Amino acid sequence: MRAAFFKSHGGPDRIRVGDVPDPVLAPGEALVRVRACALNRLDLWTLANTPGLSVSLPHIGGADVFGVVESAPNGALAKAGDEVVLSPGLSCGSCPACKAGRDNLCGEFRILGLQIGGGLAEKISIPAQNLVPAGASLSPEEWAALPVTFMTAWHMLSTRAGIKPGSWVFVQGAGSGVGCAAIEVAKFVGAKVLAAARTESKRARAIAAGAEAAFDPADPALPARVRAATGGAGADIVVEHIGGTVFEKSLECLAPGGRLVTCGATIGAEARVDLLSLFWRERSVIGSMLGTHRELLDMVSLARSGVLKPVVDRVFPLSEARAAYARLASGEAYGKVVVRIS
Ligand code: ZN
Repeated sequence: MRAAFFKSHGGPDRIRVGDVPDPVLAPGEALVRVRACALNRLDLWTLANTPGLSVSLPHIGGADVFGVVESAPNGALAKAGDEVVLSPGLSCGSCPACKAGRDNLCGEFRILGLQIGGGLAEKISIPAQNLVPAGASLSPEEWAALPVTFMTAWHMLSTRAGIKPGSWVFVQGAGSGVGCAAIEVAKFVGAKVLAAARTESKRARAIAAGAEAAFDPADPALPARVRAATGGAGADIVVEHIGGTVFEKSLECLAPGGRLVTCGATIGAEARVDLLSLFWRERSVIGSMLGTHRELLDMVSLARSGVLKPVVDRVFPLSEARAAYARLASGEAYGKVVVRIS
């Protein structure tokens, strides 16, 4: 089969497209013919050999997969010919975390395109329980754009940060995949959204997507602007995934009792925290990692009924997978970068 892969670490120039062996099915696994696969920041991190994310080479990335089932074991939720999205997290199913429905905290948790080969290939093998029937409400590219960012956004906002109708939610990096998803999810709940993005065109798109206002994250007056936009208090929730100084500035944007929820550290994993402001104003810093299988089912259900619709930045054919990686690395994308496989 054809696939996009890398044999050495570095930048997008390391991506090759060529023939690789077909997947070999383990017991209980399904075979899926991939139609579209979206990229995530994780794919750039594994390509760059980021500490803690080492992969064996050659490696096929891609955690966000939409495709058609070629074969599935008896009793699976989808059968040959069905269109599916793949749940990107693999868990043991039997540990206390899995039994409590918190499979993203499973000690054996693995992510497609990280610990195992991903979807930037014509075929992929996957445990049958990871098949999630899709529907006709979205295009193949839109379906591929959904799993990681929407389960992440829902897990961050609802499960971890307790979003409510009327909450003020400030989304950093609003043009990123998770930023776009967070705006949609927050609007769906009935929250009020503020956004930050580095370019005027991204800020305009965030407002078109429903944000009340959009700011430049580098503006020194950002916390004051967020307080002014929220009637003086600040944001109830900040969605953060940039890290470094953006994380530090985000803390200052929180209302008393506000929660900063973070799922990434694009520019830096270290940040300075003013503990005085943290305890004095009862602010919280909350970590969030992907989401659970159950949460993906909820997101797919909302997408099937037309409530959620992922934002696709650009679609590249598999032969141009390197350009797709480069587009994501450029920081210029608004929404998801997707590779069309077949
Ligand atoms: Zn487990």
